[in-house]
Amino acid sequence: MSIRRKSKTKPNGKKAPAEEKKHYMEPEYTKVRVMDFDLKDLVALPTKEIDLNEWLASNTTTFFNLINLQYSTISEFCTGDTCQAMTACNTIYYWYDERGKKTKCTAPQYVDLVMTFVQKLVTDEDIFPTKYGKDFPNSFESLVKKVCRYLFHVLAHIYWAHFKETVALELQGHLNTLFAHFIVFVREFNLVEPKETCIMDDLSEVLCAPLPPHTHNHVTER
Ligand SMILES: [Zn+2]
Repeated sequence: MSIRRKSKTKPNGKKAPAEEKKHYMEPEYTKVRVMDFDLKDLVALPTKEIDLNEWLASNTTTFFNLINLQYSTISEFCTGDTCQAMTACNTIYYWYDERGKKTKCTAPQYVDLVMTFVQKLVTDEDIFPTKYGKDFPNSFESLVKKVCRYLFHVLAHIYWAHFKETVALELQGHLNTLFAHFIVFVREFNLVEPKETCIMDDLSEVLCAPLPPHTHNHVTER
């Protein structure tokens, strides 16, 4: 059923709990979404009145908050024991410190480093200015790309290692909607390299397609 070789992804020989199967690809889950409308309209720069950088800043900040919240729902299951590395599909993500030194860390440590890094950026007035007329720095676009790449790693890890728990909490609709919205956004503005997001392309393809009318999703969770 799975062609994945766990020995390659887990040097310690332990198998990650969700590694046998991509539960998140099952149709019963992929059809569950909170919203069903054209995400492309939602991510496009609304009018010429809005500056592109402001649009990127406000969306990036929103995704940071939503992904942080989504991760917090399963964070008690994401421990140094259950997730000894930051895995998603065949990939292990390593953290690179400010000096570019590669460090291996557990998934919760990695997510904590991501969230601390992003929090610091989005609350820095010199990088994400909120006051009218204040300029964005030259490095703004590259920083937004970095943030989006990190946030993608967190979403991919939630799917790969914590989808069962997300389903148990009945939050898969929120996760799918958040993921689809995020993917359409980063594609629209070329914020994350396709070689980075390709590990989740199978899911992106299913979720970013509009639902056929007869399966229209009525949300019952209130
Ligand atoms: Zn985890």
